[in-house]
Amino acid sequence: MTDTTLLIAGASFSPPERERLEGAYLSAYVNGPSEMAGVDEATRQTIRAVAYKGHHPFGGAEMDLFPNLGVIANYGVGYDAIDVMAAGERSIRVTNTPDVLSDDVADLAVGLILAQSRSMVFGDHWVRSGQWAEKGEMPLNRQVSRKRAGIVGLGRIGREIADRLAAFKMEIHYHSRSEKDTPGWQWHADPVSLAGAVDFLVVALVGGPDTLNYITAEALRALGPDGVIVNISRGTTIDETALLDALEDGTIAGAGLDVFLNEPKINERFSKLDNVVLQPHQGSGSVETRHEMVLLQLANITAFMDGEALKTPVN
Ligand code: NAP
Repeated sequence: MTDTTLLIAGASFSPPERERLEGAYLSAYVNGPSEMAGVDEATRQTIRAVAYKGHHPFGGAEMDLFPNLGVIANYGVGYDAIDVMAAGERSIRVTNTPDVLSDDVADLAVGLILAQSRSMVFGDHWVRSGQWAEKGEMPLNRQVSRKRAGIVGLGRIGREIADRLAAFKMEIHYHSRSEKDTPGWQWHADPVSLAGAVDFLVVALVGGPDTLNYITAEALRALGPDGVIVNISRGTTIDETALLDALEDGTIAGAGLDVFLNEPKINERFSKLDNVVLQPHQGSGSVETRHEMVLLQLANITAFMDGEALKTPVN
């Protein structure tokens, strides 16, 4: 008898993604970590790999359900939902899907800057609602090119964003824990100093406890009433209550947001704001990129199963 060796865990796997994983290994499926305890005992014994997709915490208690688990292959570059330390303590490897999604996420960050500053969502409504024909020109908005951009976290995605904004003739500033070799780009030792120097603050950090509320009320005050913040990282990286307060009282001009706390049931205060552009955590959500992501996830699983070096290990 062939054993079930792969557990596919995640309600948001698309049918083609599931088919690709199921075509490679005899698989069991659950919606997420909360359903793992419901996998029957015999199957739990034979699972060697988990293909994970989602943002629900995947901790040591779930890992302990699978005594022969050797790898958790995350779909996505951000693996903050997975307790990597707990995995390490159990000699479980963790992999992610870096690089293949950086272009998409950077494109969306630039799109959010354009959509927020040039009032593109409002403009679409202006046309569809007949106000263009009835009232003429829509209200003026704010220029994007030749402004000052500040990237918080100059990693893979942060660099792609900076490269794109440089092509918009922007002055590039950034904050990372250490200065990078990026001639012409100005490093700031902390996010408050960065926010005070720019018009657009783009957050491209990793998520997780180490970067919780990295962007504080003080940083938002430093960004100021003409400043716009964009977040494509995780909802946890900005103090969300401070952000909502700053958007409501004009401490900052606006925001473009792809990520939130408590997704998808986000704070209702966001929907009442007309100075924000909101996206449903779709940074990597193109057909092409998602295809690359599942292929890399599967390549990591295959490497593990075959005893070869993992393609993109985290631990
Ligand atoms: P990356 O190359 O690892 O870059 C991460 C950045 O976070 C680096 O600049 C790093 O700063 C910074 N960082 C890490 N730990 C930190 C800490 N403890 N304190 C301060 N800064 C810290 O990752 P990436 O591939 O660019 O991805 C970045 C994040 O984007 C992911 O982790 C994920 O959360 C998010 N993301 C979102 C979407 C979406 O759909 N919206 C899609 C993909 C990824 P240093 O330079 O100082 O090391």
